[in-house]
Amino acid sequence: MVVVMSPDATDEDVAHVVEKVQEVGGEAFVSKGVVRTIIGLVGDLESFHHLNLRTLRGVADVHRISDPYKLVSRQHHAERSTVWVGRAGRRVPIGPDTFTFMAGPCAVESADQTLEAARMAQSAGATILRGGAYKPRTSPYAFQGLGVKGLEILADVREATGMPVVTEVVDARDVPVVAEHADMLQIGTRNMANFGLLQAAGESGKPVLLKRGMTATIEEWLMAAEYIAQRGNLDVVLCERGIRTFEPATRNTLDISAVPVVQATSHLPIIVDPSHAAGRKDLVVPLSRAGIAVGADGIIVDVHPTPETALCDGPQALLGNDLRDLAQAVRKLPPVVGRVDSSERAERP
Ligand code: PEP
Ligand code: MN
Repeated sequence: MVVVMSPDATDEDVAHVVEKVQEVGGEAFVSKGVVRTIIGLVGDLESFHHLNLRTLRGVADVHRISDPYKLVSRQHHAERSTVWVGRAGRRVPIGPDTFTFMAGPCAVESADQTLEAARMAQSAGATILRGGAYKPRTSPYAFQGLGVKGLEILADVREATGMPVVTEVVDARDVPVVAEHADMLQIGTRNMANFGLLQAAGESGKPVLLKRGMTATIEEWLMAAEYIAQRGNLDVVLCERGIRTFEPATRNTLDISAVPVVQATSHLPIIVDPSHAAGRKDLVVPLSRAGIAVGADGIIVDVHPTPETALCDGPQALLGNDLRDLAQAVRKLPPVVGRVDSSERAERP
């Protein structure tokens, strides 16, 4: 940490800061410039926070040098992590050496629709099935999901296809039942900063897919991941799903640069959701290609057998030729950036 003194700070002000830092066991290194004095602090960050340094007389600014997140940072964990998803013997990796394609319907609507979407996803090369049983809708009048019935459908479809399942949990009280049925818990953009939910997911014993809040900075997102990690769960995969900007042509703006930025600062895997970023099916394939090229560890895409009847997000769901184009991109592009398909590294029963 570095404390910057204001130009009119006195020697007594500087001495007072040094004294306070030493009182909590820290060391202070004073460097006097022509106009300003800066003080470098070495010691326990937490105890420095309690000092409320900004309130001390003569202090102009305080800068942090190390990351505010510890467990998810690369500062103490240089090697990038791989998160394994699924039941023992059938697990699929998400990490730096592989490319993981996840797909499925936005919402679980019925057993037939989910199975059909899963088969479409699987034939396009997907190794993990997505599908929402609890839908966090902007309108309270919109379809809210099938709840436990939807979780049961997902578990049945996992049995039928062998695909591990990721599904969203929107309420901390539902974490046990979702963890009982699913292989990975998704925390959506609207709940990224729901700290009670993050902590409950951290105690669930299941890997977590943490989407970026639509107005969250990368640092806030990584702090949210830290909440999960702090509860003993380091199996967290981040998902860039677009952020709110002034541009109305797309539902959100896919922040593609977040992928390498996150990879430089955190060891956690990061995937891209082009469907929820764009909100339009014609952009899903180009944005998926961009995600692969920029080095994402995977993508998660909406597919639906009949988008015109979908109860949620039909306009962004792929099928037919679009899905074939995506399948081709997912087959051809990852090897160009040095990745093998997750199916090649997945455990086989
Ligand atoms: C979803 O993936 O179904 C979803 C609701 O996504 P997001 O939280 O990114 O809007
Ligand atoms: Mn959706």
